[in-house]
Amino acid sequence: MTSLSKCVLFQRIARRSLLTPSRNLSLQEYQSKALLQQHNVNIQKFRVLDSDTNKTALKDFHAKEYVIKAQVLAGGRGKGHFDNGFKGGVHLTKNVEEVFQLADKMVGNRLITQQTPKDGILVRKVMVAESVNIVRETYLCILLDRQHNGPVLVASPAGGMDIEKVAADTPELIKTMPIDIFEGVTREMAEEVASFLKFDGELKSKCADEITKLWKLFLEVDAVQLEINPLVETDDNQVISVDAKINFDDNAKFRQKEVFAMDDTSESDPREVEAAKHNLNYIGMEGNVGCLVNGAGLAMATMDMITLSGGKPANFLDVGGAVGEEQVKAAFKLLAADENVKAILVNVFGGIVNCATIARGIIAACRSMELGVPLVVRLEGTNVGEARQLLHDSKLPIREASDLDKAAALAVKN
Ligand code: GDP
Ligand code: MG
Repeated sequence: MTSLSKCVLFQRIARRSLLTPSRNLSLQEYQSKALLQQHNVNIQKFRVLDSDTNKTALKDFHAKEYVIKAQVLAGGRGKGHFDNGFKGGVHLTKNVEEVFQLADKMVGNRLITQQTPKDGILVRKVMVAESVNIVRETYLCILLDRQHNGPVLVASPAGGMDIEKVAADTPELIKTMPIDIFEGVTREMAEEVASFLKFDGELKSKCADEITKLWKLFLEVDAVQLEINPLVETDDNQVISVDAKINFDDNAKFRQKEVFAMDDTSESDPREVEAAKHNLNYIGMEGNVGCLVNGAGLAMATMDMITLSGGKPANFLDVGGAVGEEQVKAAFKLLAADENVKAILVNVFGGIVNCATIARGIIAACRSMELGVPLVVRLEGTNVGEARQLLHDSKLPIREASDLDKAAALAVKN
């Protein structure tokens, strides 16, 4: 693994394992905007079109100018391009007929942006909104920040499609303000940020109102990040959230039922979606050795050993400390269903985990399905004697290895 991909993987693991082992929910722009609307944040009126849309869909939706935006879970759409050669995931038109033509060029095609995988993301829906005349684009984000141990407001008067460049070249144009979680965003703070965003007079007050509403939304939906880029000033003196991206705290799923019900998993790796249902910490990769491991550190070490033995891991699967037989079975199902997996390596160090539980799970899994690939098991720690006996007595074709080197080598050889 290159150091870069390892770094990305570390970030993904860290993000997950500090929270519950599940996906990090983010919503499409049109869904986030619906939440903004519920909280009275100023947004453009909009409709959503998909491939089944007929021409009557905009019958009662009139605007002087329309903006059409591809809906994918990635930014940089405006500067993106489609796999059919069509340029740009955000378009303006005054002609309602052209709205449908533009939508046709987007829906069913893959949009490639700086933030998507190389082959892009399939666009299933577009948002059609009433275009606003933008005088200025600013940037506003509220996020939970580890450095500050709490929420912060990040703002820049130089918002829009080049915010990454602004952060790199002119960091003085970006202001970060820690928010006291008990006091929240005070009027004073909201106005200070509005001033920094270069809103004056009546507009400053309007901008502060928007910031206050966005903060309330952030709290009420248990967001971990709420990014508005751009937050614009219009030619008729309004402050409007033109783009919105919200990420939600998965630990709040139990009390954010409405939000999580909007979860659209069509863009996610189906293996990761299935794993999340069983509370498994899973990240799909491109190799062919399926790994079942407990603990993120041991998972990383296992992946390193596979790589050093000349193989490539097909996944990262951490069953965690409180694993039961059923979860082990679910984990095996997941690995066995993955066509890329040519061998399975179980590497469990039983500190909290009882190795016998893992052994029973493995046996139950092997008896309930056709694995079809070799299985190498290395167990160590609590109750390992009983675990080995169970595996031995099962008479299943399991290859046991006493240490990680040998286990990895065996799995790669298969
Ligand atoms: P992103 O490229 O994925 O961040 O998509 P955005 O929704 O932020 O749109 C990209 C850019 O398109 C914005 O920065 C604006 O410059 C422009 N844009 C978006 N909506 C409108 C609109 O209603 N009117 C006008 N004139 N420009 C818009
Ligand atoms: Mg944007």
